[in-house]
Amino acid sequence: MTRHRTKILCTIGPASEHPKTIRAMLRGGMDGARLNFSHGSRQWHASVYNRLRDLSTETNSPLCILQDLQGIKIRITDVESPFRLNRGEVVRVAPGTERTSHQCIVIDYPHLLKDLKRGDRILIDDGLITLVVRDKGAGGLRAVVKEGGIISSRKGVNLPDSRVSLSPFTDKDREDLEFGLSLGVDYVALSFVRSHREVKALKEWMAGRGHQLPVIAKIERPEAVSDIDRILDLSEGIMVARGDLGVEMPPEEVPLIQKELIIKANSRGRLVITATQMLESMKEHTRPTRAEVTDVANAVLDGSDVLMLSAETSAGRYPVQAVKMMQRIISATEKRPAVRENLFRHNMLQKRDDMSFAVADAAVRAAEDIRASYIVALTESGYTAMLISKLRPSVPVIAFTPEERVLRVMRLFWGVSPFMMERKAHWDEMVSEVVELMRQRGLIRRTETLVIVGGDPPGMGMTNIMKIIRAGV
Ligand code: PGA
Ligand code: MN
Repeated sequence: MTRHRTKILCTIGPASEHPKTIRAMLRGGMDGARLNFSHGSRQWHASVYNRLRDLSTETNSPLCILQDLQGIKIRITDVESPFRLNRGEVVRVAPGTERTSHQCIVIDYPHLLKDLKRGDRILIDDGLITLVVRDKGAGGLRAVVKEGGIISSRKGVNLPDSRVSLSPFTDKDREDLEFGLSLGVDYVALSFVRSHREVKALKEWMAGRGHQLPVIAKIERPEAVSDIDRILDLSEGIMVARGDLGVEMPPEEVPLIQKELIIKANSRGRLVITATQMLESMKEHTRPTRAEVTDVANAVLDGSDVLMLSAETSAGRYPVQAVKMMQRIISATEKRPAVRENLFRHNMLQKRDDMSFAVADAAVRAAEDIRASYIVALTESGYTAMLISKLRPSVPVIAFTPEERVLRVMRLFWGVSPFMMERKAHWDEMVSEVVELMRQRGLIRRTETLVIVGGDPPGMGMTNIMKIIRAGV
């Protein structure tokens, strides 16, 4: 059973690739692993992927694996030796792949000259260094340093004022996704999405190869915030990617954008992940700052389904402690009864004109009225489990599915503990099997009331039945 209802997604990197570390992170509360395709070789990703699956089997905890595609992450090229840019200096900037030097800052974005205009900002290293375009020449442009700093290899570049014309579903992303699909990842996330059209392109590309993975659109460009309604129409979920969002947009807007995106995603029944710098200081220390603890708690209160750790677990010194700390903050926050009211005040799943919604809604109400021990969803696609999760019941939710892929996808659903169960021909057999499996797993210890929802007949892809039973040991 899940100890925390808001789920934890951990980026795996050199700091967390060791089996011992992964085991400890699983024990500490990791629900999902993110493979960040902005870094690492294919070979590295494949070996980590296999290790994660093996350890998940070994520890008997289904793990969800998310492939994060780089998108158009723009970077400066390698630097011979780091150098300082001083305020007021005028520097040459050019697109290309050659090394960067003080004579020329080379940026690995081919459309640089086309997309940038006079007055546009070029932000380097998470916005720490600011250049402003002064004029354009043949092979490059000249820019004034507004805020200086040290330039070192492969620092990220943001172009917040420019219309970035390259599609974020790049050739590299296509090759990486092909590879991810062959491994068997459970979700795919696309970085720097600007419009719903890009999500559509990604989905069509996958469908053409016979795949229908749930897609997470990373919201980190202002254009994506503007197009959020249509992006939510097409994606299974979104990520509030605060790292780049806070550079691409004024940082003071990020907290409210976070809340608005979460409310929208929840009202539409889409997964929402809040990400980046949540426990940043734990890269170096065993304890977070109080401000970080508050940020994690607030992301829970906002109604996130999932919280993500990035550098804390991929590159930091204390990956296991970071997971445990996040687990503690989530659990402590969720314990308070006021939390649920808070979640409900703004986060409301819109009514839907479908049978599954009617049954899910009825089950949540019934379970709360009679203070049931569990809501049990028998689900083929995970859809009913998602609806129940989005209704944010106070009663724990258990989801049984015959599909291993669905089991892993549901691992990121708020408050849902997923288990496998074979398909049976009749609804009554399914109910008996539920009770049997729950007994075996020690989930029924005395006489418990269960509210079970599913399809009758099973396997028809519809949710049309609810049954309340009392089961004892
Ligand atoms: P990233 O995305 O870690 O891939 O950059 C998250 C963010 O920008 O916040
Ligand atoms: Mn990002």
